[in-house]
Amino acid sequence: MKKKPTFSGSQIPGIIECPQSRIKPKIKIDSSGEPARIGNAVHELIAKRIDTYENPDIEKICLKHDVKRDDVAPLYFRALSAWRDIGDSLASPIVESRMSADLGKYTLSGKPDAMAIIEEHDALFILDWKTGRLEEDARNQIKAYLLIALLNGVYGGRDFTSYIGRVYHLRQSYAETIVLTKEDLRDFRETLDMAIVGRNKDTYNPGKACQYCNRAHECKAGTALIKSTVGSLTNGEYDSLTPAVVSDIWYSIDKIEKLCKAFKSSAKELVSEHGPISVSRTHEVSIRGENNAEFDMGKVRAVLGDDIFFAACKLTKTGLSAALKEAGISAKDMFNALLESGAMKYIIKPKFKARRKERAT
Ligand code: SF4
Repeated sequence: MKKKPTFSGSQIPGIIECPQSRIKPKIKIDSSGEPARIGNAVHELIAKRIDTYENPDIEKICLKHDVKRDDVAPLYFRALSAWRDIGDSLASPIVESRMSADLGKYTLSGKPDAMAIIEEHDALFILDWKTGRLEEDARNQIKAYLLIALLNGVYGGRDFTSYIGRVYHLRQSYAETIVLTKEDLRDFRETLDMAIVGRNKDTYNPGKACQYCNRAHECKAGTALIKSTVGSLTNGEYDSLTPAVVSDIWYSIDKIEKLCKAFKSSAKELVSEHGPISVSRTHEVSIRGENNAEFDMGKVRAVLGDDIFFAACKLTKTGLSAALKEAGISAKDMFNALLESGAMKYIIKPKFKARRKERAT
């Protein structure tokens, strides 16, 4: 019998972004670099402290993981202070306990950094320490842990009113908290099923997830994205760049994106205060009102009937044209009917854009 695949909680953020990242790479890459070892040392220290209430031997654990005390201690002390802030409200803490849950066609497994009960809120609490970069969507990892805990029947299968997850980004001293109900976790399970065994499972979605994906070195979709993005930033010189330079540029893209966003918002402010800015002999950036169609989907369905409505929802022009033709309605009539019934209206939205300069008359 074919063995069920198992996915770990830490894979879940990537799988939700890009379902194809769940597949194991053919060539394995060593991921035991220094950042991973620093993370392991911090996790071991804080787990020991929570579990035994005693101060762990920092030097010894740093030696074990072959990392410097100066890289580890600040993160450990931040975790310790965060734990002390909430520790009093937590009952029956469990540290780094591996759990798994059978989700039918696959198994979900995870080892949350700490789990406890918050009696005051009748809540199950799961916590995860992050020692790396902030960009990863760790909330989906925590959701996966909460789902496993729910299905696994932790704390004697107790039925909690809420399920609270918290992610501490230790490097940035920043915490994210999510509060979910059982229904939210059921919805999350559907999202997971869709990505792992459902209709999205064959989807490649190259993007941010590629930065953390262990298939990135052999994935054509990911490579194509890197090639086109790095190529566009280097005037198409991709082929003459060394892999190290490509990787540097690729990992700097987030920073570039943030700079571009900051630049765009400053430019927007300038334009709204002082009017259009000329960017070439023929073009300027300006803010002008543009007509945007807005739909009330309930009314649209009532006006169009199910056949045309669902053809329109699929957003295929041919599907829609065929449905309209069969119903003997022209596109113009359809839009008129939508406008008259109030199912569609035009609103003017300000758009910031580079445009051809208006000629003085
Ligand atoms: S490299 Fe990117 S596109 Fe390819 S599987 Fe991974 S996340 Fe998906």
